[in-house]
Amino acid sequence: MGHRMKECPREDSVLQAFHDGQPLPDHVRDCEWCAAALLLAQTLQADAADVTVPSHGLVYWKARLRERRQQQELALRPARRMEWMAAALVLATPVIVAAATGMVLVAVAAAGLGIMAAATIAVLKYRLQ
Ligand SMILES: [Zn+2]
Repeated sequence: MGHRMKECPREDSVLQAFHDGQPLPDHVRDCEWCAAALLLAQTLQADAADVTVPSHGLVYWKARLRERRQQQELALRPARRMEWMAAALVLATPVIVAAATGMVLVAVAAAGLGIMAAATIAVLKYRLQ
């Protein structure tokens, strides 16, 4: 008995049973590989109702899951851009107000503070990613 999870020859029949809505074999409870394959299939099906679950291997499901994560990442990008624009606006406002009222030194100081704040936010954001 090895410690690493070994690919199981019964995986296809387990996924086929899940796909067909048939009762799952007891084997799933004893087999780490089939349990993982089943969990991935269930996750994907719960994630999107339009996803049909054909009997494919664990490697296939992992690739699909990665694909979906990338799609979600792409969907979030416009929101991130808005976040940056809002932050830029907040930081730029004191500079614009000070410049408009003729307070050049205040405008320069506010710009300096804004740049520092922006740099700090950028560093924090990239560290958290
Ligand atoms: Zn198995």
